[in-house]
Amino acid sequence: MLGVLECFKRRSKFRVVFVLGGPGSGKGTMCARIVDRYGWVHLSAGDLLRAERKDPKSKDGELINEYIREGMIVPVEITLGLLKRAMEASGSTDFLVDGFPRNLDNLEGWETNMSDVAVPAVLYLETTEAVMQDRILKRANETKLAGGATRSDDNVDSIKKRFRTYINDTMPIIDKYKTDGIVHVVDSTPNPDIVFATVCNLFDTLQPS
Ligand code: UDP
Ligand code: MG
Repeated sequence: MLGVLECFKRRSKFRVVFVLGGPGSGKGTMCARIVDRYGWVHLSAGDLLRAERKDPKSKDGELINEYIREGMIVPVEITLGLLKRAMEASGSTDFLVDGFPRNLDNLEGWETNMSDVAVPAVLYLETTEAVMQDRILKRANETKLAGGATRSDDNVDSIKKRFRTYINDTMPIIDKYKTDGIVHVVDSTPNPDIVFATVCNLFDTLQPS
């Protein structure tokens, strides 16, 4: 017989796995691989905010710009609105939500407005600050060399602020999910092939919806 929780999960329209970890921990890289192998839809909160910031019709562009440069977390109404819209537009039911929830405001906003969405797991990519900073600066450098536009927050000053926000605001959210018993910690220090092999252990257990 199905447990109450299982029934709830089956009834809910959407399934979300949150992918959390510090800036440069490898969230985007792992999400791309999960999409390839398992077909979940990747929604990066940061990418959605950057796209909204670029939209001249958006009333929130200026505010988003300021928050991102300062490494601060945008008010949840904005982020949640973008996530909801993307989920509904995708036609899918299974989502990787990358880089959200990042603070208490995000968490409360999610719990209040998205209580019908099942969150079977949180994937937490863990590595050191030195590794993360190295990766961010390397990525920025490669983008620049290729003639692309670098992120406004991929400079040493903004990176420091992003780390501070991560430690002060995001770690308590990860700890809360740890208490709930749904966090899968993966060491994201090794190369992507090795990290992904561990990530697969989680997603193999989540198929199919
Ligand atoms: N951001 C936010 N709310 C979110 C996700 C991102 O305000 O839910 C902002 C925040 O300022 C953050 C920036 O977007 O520092 C970049 O986020 P992203 O996830 O792209 O960066 P990453 O952590 O992957 O380097
Ligand atoms: Mg990212």
